[in-house]
Amino acid sequence: MTEQPASDATVPVVLANARQTLAEAGVADPGVDATLLLAHVLGTSRGDIQLKESLGYSLTSDEGEAFAAVLSRRAAREPLQHITGTAPFRYMELLVGPGVFVPRPETEIVAQYAIDALWAVANPAPVAVDLGTGSGAIALAMATEVPHSRVIAVERSVDAHAWAAKNVAHVGATNMELRNGDFASALDDLAGTVAVIASNPPYVPAEAIPRDLEVRLYDPKEALYSGADGLDDIRVISGVGLRLGYPGSSIVLEHGEWQGADIREILTADGWMSAATHQDLTMRDRVTTAVHP
Ligand code: SAM
Ligand code: GLN
Repeated sequence: MTEQPASDATVPVVLANARQTLAEAGVADPGVDATLLLAHVLGTSRGDIQLKESLGYSLTSDEGEAFAAVLSRRAAREPLQHITGTAPFRYMELLVGPGVFVPRPETEIVAQYAIDALWAVANPAPVAVDLGTGSGAIALAMATEVPHSRVIAVERSVDAHAWAAKNVAHVGATNMELRNGDFASALDDLAGTVAVIASNPPYVPAEAIPRDLEVRLYDPKEALYSGADGLDDIRVISGVGLRLGYPGSSIVLEHGEWQGADIREILTADGWMSAATHQDLTMRDRVTTAVHP
């Protein structure tokens, strides 16, 4: 067997072809994804790939084949994070794959509001909950970044719960408890004790099919849709939060950029105080907070 000529399989040539393939497939950020996929295949960092690109490093035929295989998966719009098996979230690399919602950068802001609220509690061991924890992202951020807190996370999907359990072990969080169940009732034993109620629930209206194929084809449906206006779960969570919290507790909810006013209205009508909507790093309304009456 003869080796491929090295000039055909240098990092700059392979990356240029990959960027074009991914751009033609409609991938949002072809340059970044091509680099991260090659870093994954070579078991190295994004910076090292950039170095190899400028040095014209040659790939072996095995490396070239492995890259072609992951490239064709990504060109079919499988999420980058399902291919690499990880998603960055705040200080962590979370394990993800089929059956769990891929944690998003905008949710890091939601976690920040929950963490800040938890730090502000005048209690040596404040309790927080994460309703619909998915991979465990918000719960693990609270547990690791507020080490004196106790965090209880609940997830209904058996598959997602299994990913969250892997992440609790992977991150090594010992101040976090994970439950499999419906957030409408799975935490009733905590009534009146919870300082921070955090959630990134499903909030996509039933008829609003997400534009990105990665979301539409690979995120679990039970993670996305929540009734005609997308607010059914928020309505439930508002009531759950009133039962679990106590006067002065905080609720922190992620939502779509068009939902802030409706959510403030739901929370205020239920009795929550000081409902306020905040923006993410792209200046879109993304998180609404309120204080338990
Ligand atoms: N919190 C994670 C994050 O931010 O990456 C996951 C968010 S995902 C948008 C919503 C999650 O809530 C999904 O994992 C879904 O399975 C879960 N879920 C939906 N309804 C639920 C319910 N009634 N009880 C518990 N979990 C639920
Ligand atoms: N932000 C998600 C999307 O990309 C929706 C997440 C949710 O429903 N919580 O569609």
